[in-house]
Amino acid sequence: MVAQPRVRAGAHDENTPRLVGHTHGAAQTRPRRLLLCLDGVPFEIMQAAQARGLFAGFNEPARLLSPFPTMTNIALATMLKASVPLGYETVYFDRQAQELRGSIGKYIGRRTPDKVPSSYMDELDYQEPLPFEFLVYVAPDAVWRADMRRFRERFRAAPQTRDYFGFLKGTDGLLHIRGPEKLQPALESLDGILRELQAWGGRETEIVLFSDHGMNLEEVRKVHLLTHLREQGYEVKSEFRGRGPRKLAVPAFGLIGFAALYCSDETDPAEVAATLAPLEGVDFSLYRDGNSAVIVHGARGRARIRRTTNGAGTRFAYEQLDGDPLELAPVLGELQAAGEVDAQGFAADAAWFARTGAHTYPDALANLFAAIQHGDRVHNAADVLVSTRDGYYYGWSALERIVHLHATHGNARRQSTTAFLMSTHRNFTPYVRGSEARPLLRE
Ligand SMILES: [Zn+2]
Repeated sequence: MVAQPRVRAGAHDENTPRLVGHTHGAAQTRPRRLLLCLDGVPFEIMQAAQARGLFAGFNEPARLLSPFPTMTNIALATMLKASVPLGYETVYFDRQAQELRGSIGKYIGRRTPDKVPSSYMDELDYQEPLPFEFLVYVAPDAVWRADMRRFRERFRAAPQTRDYFGFLKGTDGLLHIRGPEKLQPALESLDGILRELQAWGGRETEIVLFSDHGMNLEEVRKVHLLTHLREQGYEVKSEFRGRGPRKLAVPAFGLIGFAALYCSDETDPAEVAATLAPLEGVDFSLYRDGNSAVIVHGARGRARIRRTTNGAGTRFAYEQLDGDPLELAPVLGELQAAGEVDAQGFAADAAWFARTGAHTYPDALANLFAAIQHGDRVHNAADVLVSTRDGYYYGWSALERIVHLHATHGNARRQSTTAFLMSTHRNFTPYVRGSEARPLLRE
């Protein structure tokens, strides 16, 4: 417990008068803001908590849509428009070096710059001490209590002239290891702390509470991904040396609802996706089809997502090759009936978003297209990105022997995608894209 949370010093003007937290262009002001992220708390849990009388000082939560893969670093980098992480997780594949990088060692010792996955961490005034990141999966209750106490003390000691951004990770561990019932006492304690901080700060402090991603709240089973790939003649490697077809690298770390696959030069992503389509627990795979299209291949068939940007903005097409892997045929029908689809099959990004916020795959076209572009969500984008069905995970086999999961996240489906966003002062639109959240959080 020796590591200290990163405290950002000197980044704000301490002379700014209280109540005038930030000055916008035209001398417009707003109250000071406490921004608090609760790792992995899904919208539905926060909505139910409010219905039971918790968080009564907040307006109703909006659904904040987490980008796929629905993982903390990707979500917070996207929501805060921070630097893009190297990979989807701590263990990742370096495309340039053609080998796996990162390790459990990142979890040990101080949070030095090489262990900071994205610049959003520089914006945090409070985050848990580094050893908690791992301990939270072993002793989540004790870690959560200690973490919340430290947050409260540090917030009260911080200069009151500027915003404060805290990140509580214990909620994610509690949900994974103990399940939603055990989260309730933690939410009640947090409610007590926030009531106290609200009484202390008054209307002069806005509290914004949000989460980074949602959670699939059910027992999860393993997808036998590597076994299946090997049975089908693929070699799974940690680096690509020498030539040869059917070679893959598949980083494994957390026990989560997606897998990132990297293909050697002579390995065809389309073939890999076809090999995985019938495997139990796989929902679909994504791979790039040239520069302006992505193929979705699942047990329900194949479709092409096409994107085009012109003077009229960004437009998407959903082209069913065979079947309807994303269950979007009814939405496409509605858009056609409304005259929103042009002769080439494209409809406006906003038109798709307006009709898919509550879909099984929220905001699927824009979300999934970006997920597999180089440098968009991560630097080292996968060649094939797999999203599991709810109730399934892929991950590091050593971890499977230590933990028993009551819930997980990572896939592109509604439960994992739907995080929440709420404020004591403002109301938001019912659905907020993660990529469009920064102005609401920081400005
Ligand atoms: Zn998690």
